[in-house]
Amino acid sequence: MCSGRVDLEFVLRGFSNGMDGVFIGGCRLNECNYITHGNYHALNMVLLCKKIMENIGLNPERLRIEFMSSGEGNLFVEVMNDFGKKVNELGPIGTSEEIGEGELKSRLEKVRKLVPYIKLVKRAKLESRLEKAEEYDALFNGEEINELFLGVPSYYIDPESCRACMICLRRCPAEAIAGGKNRIHVIDQAKCIKCGVCLDACPPRFSAVKKISGEPVPSPIPEGERRILRKSKK
Ligand code: SF4
Ligand code: SF4
Repeated sequence: MCSGRVDLEFVLRGFSNGMDGVFIGGCRLNECNYITHGNYHALNMVLLCKKIMENIGLNPERLRIEFMSSGEGNLFVEVMNDFGKKVNELGPIGTSEEIGEGELKSRLEKVRKLVPYIKLVKRAKLESRLEKAEEYDALFNGEEINELFLGVPSYYIDPESCRACMICLRRCPAEAIAGGKNRIHVIDQAKCIKCGVCLDACPPRFSAVKKISGEPVPSPIPEGERRILRKSKK
């Protein structure tokens, strides 16, 4: 119902599935039926996605957003013809960019895994409301997207501090934490989507989850050494 529901992940998934172009049509800005004004969110998401596309070598013209009312059939036809022509000129995804299919998929998959992290870090900008078209280009810049990707953190559970309370395991949205009763918990780095939920969830008295940036993540404690031996009450 609302262009604001079109998530960054949906667009990246479209490209990853081989779409040559993605078009998002929203209601006119400032004419939203809801107080949320989701079309501004969609606009900001597209501006961010275009910079991400540039960063991974994809032509940002493959993505377009336009705002119009349901009564503007002529405008819709005009825009779609124009966009269709542009996508035809660009050719199948990856060709004009000279990126092989496998390489492109791998770049897109890496970014898709980071969508929750990207949305968290860029939340303030994604929620902003740009009143003038001249402001669009300046909302995100290539350098900040570069820094965003270079500064991706990792999360690690310190085996000495983990008390197996299982809170992080229950809250992790990606099922990236292995653990159980009386078991030291371990994060599967391949599954982790860097959302940081575990860091906030781990009780301060344990503070077992560590955020790591710019250094390698320690190897996980071996399976056979994860059992926590508790002192008997007697
Ligand atoms: S940061 Fe923590 S909660 Fe988020 S996906 Fe990774 S392990 Fe799970
Ligand atoms: S919330 Fe903290 S103490 Fe509890 S299982 Fe997770 S890492 Fe261990």
